[in-house]
Amino acid sequence: MSNSKYDIAILGTGLGGLVCGYMLSKNGFKVLLLEKNPQIGGCLQTFKRFGVKFDTGMHYIGSMLDGQILHRLFNYLHLLEDVKLSRLDESGYDVFSIGGKQYRYASGYEQFVDTLHQAFPKHRKDLEKYVRRLKDIADASPLYNLRKVEDNVFIDADYIKTSINDFIASVTDNYELQNVLAGNLPLYAGVKDKTPTYIHALINNFYIQSAWRIIGGSDAIAQSLANSIHSFGGEIRTHAEITEIVCDDTRAVGVRLADGEFVEANSIISNIHPQATIAMIQSHLIRKAYRTRINDLDNTIANFTVYIKFKEKATPYLNYNYYYYENDDVWSANDRRDGDPLRSYLFMHQSAEEGQQWAQSAEMIGYMRFSEVQRWADTRVGHRGEDYKAFKQATAEHYLDVLERSFPGIRNHIEYYETSSPLTYRDYTATKDGSMYGIIRDKNFPTQTLVSQRTKIPNLFMTGQNINSHGILGVTIGAALTCAEFMGLNKIIDEIEGSKP
Ligand SMILES: Cc1cc2nc3c(=O)[nH]c(=O)nc-3n(C[C@H](O)[C@H](O)[C@H](O)COP(=O)(O)OP(=O)(O)OC[C@H]3O[C@@H](n4cnc5c(N)ncnc54)[C@H](O)[C@@H]3O)c2cc1C
Repeated sequence: MSNSKYDIAILGTGLGGLVCGYMLSKNGFKVLLLEKNPQIGGCLQTFKRFGVKFDTGMHYIGSMLDGQILHRLFNYLHLLEDVKLSRLDESGYDVFSIGGKQYRYASGYEQFVDTLHQAFPKHRKDLEKYVRRLKDIADASPLYNLRKVEDNVFIDADYIKTSINDFIASVTDNYELQNVLAGNLPLYAGVKDKTPTYIHALINNFYIQSAWRIIGGSDAIAQSLANSIHSFGGEIRTHAEITEIVCDDTRAVGVRLADGEFVEANSIISNIHPQATIAMIQSHLIRKAYRTRINDLDNTIANFTVYIKFKEKATPYLNYNYYYYENDDVWSANDRRDGDPLRSYLFMHQSAEEGQQWAQSAEMIGYMRFSEVQRWADTRVGHRGEDYKAFKQATAEHYLDVLERSFPGIRNHIEYYETSSPLTYRDYTATKDGSMYGIIRDKNFPTQTLVSQRTKIPNLFMTGQNINSHGILGVTIGAALTCAEFMGLNKIIDEIEGSKP
């Protein structure tokens, strides 16, 4: 092993990179985080327009009551003080409009069942079975309960090999209820007959326990983690684009930056999408079969978002998330062909303060494939041309027309709006084709679509949403799995459990 200045270079400062940076620097490793953007955070980045801050990839989080899983992790990560939260409506944090009818998910398992029971009076038993099975799946995962483990067992194989729609069909044969239970599928870009049950179960279990917005922007998470990393002696560099992971005959020795600088490190963790990571490695240590397997993996769909600033005191603050489906089959959201009208979307107000009366801003997110913006693929942010601007404006106007059907008059309350497309995400996070959640897990190919934190190079590891799972919880637990390669998983669990609020 060489004796370089850094024990570990972490490539990228998305949530996964930052959590690894925190855990490892706290444990005495000399870490250097390298980020290509001016701003750290990846999907935790925010941007300011018209005096309002907009989130880009972290809108609501769950399980933040004292003792719940994310609260315990935030406590360990020293985030509780810096990240202010506002609780979403307990009687309906998610509201669904499906084929013209409305339904609500309420917080807490009992209230969740009671509330949906009102809409499905003959199906209480199905609802009880559904929540029982969600709890069973979540309880069966040692890591999601911070239980010590013999090896990195993550979830029971059955739930990896069953699709969400089959799982839901096994708890109820009522078609309408099946669609309601799958209603928040944009949270994981679920695909019928493909997405494994555990993804749905862990996410729904997470939010049913309690659901929250982050007051004032998700960049607070990134900033707080960065401050901690600095306080533990770690270093973070922005404007540091990595172009190559350099290897000798047996291992990685460091990274090359876009300006030619070489940074040496004993080990490397890549928080960059696995397909982009291996594209940066020329070494024979990455064999063709591995390269092909990783490159052949499909990615989840991308999105088009409209960021809205409301006129002052014009729109009452909505303390819930609104999922819209034009027809009664929520899975048909995936059938979108290029240029189709918008038939489903997610609409969320942003939280600026506790107890808010009026909304300052909101975001409206719809699916969009990269092929719809393919013709501008060779352009970069801010230099994509007038036809791209016209495309974005026409798309946004169409979105707002569709929004107006559910919220009559809302257009009159809008002062400004901004938009992003799959190209925006591609260029800000380097995720393939602007994919929202990275590689699609497929119950038909369970092992092939799970990317390990280990690579074919002994001192190169991966972290981020393509390892384990996406989202605040999936990525944080994935980071623990990556850091376990250096410290052992049970030591990390001990540390988390031992940290005092
Ligand atoms: C629209 C949207 C909404 C979402 N909403 C939620 C939500 O409400 N709740 C939730 O829990 N999750 C949500 N998510 C998911 C969540 O944001 C992600 O799963 C998570 O933040 C991904 O973290 P990551 O560690 O994989 O890194 P990423 O965020 O993908 O970051 C990767 C980092 O690597 C950097 N990088 C890439 N290439 C290079 C290079 N060559 N050199 C240097 N640096 C490089 C990038 O600039 C970036 O900073 C959402 C995601 C999206 C897209």
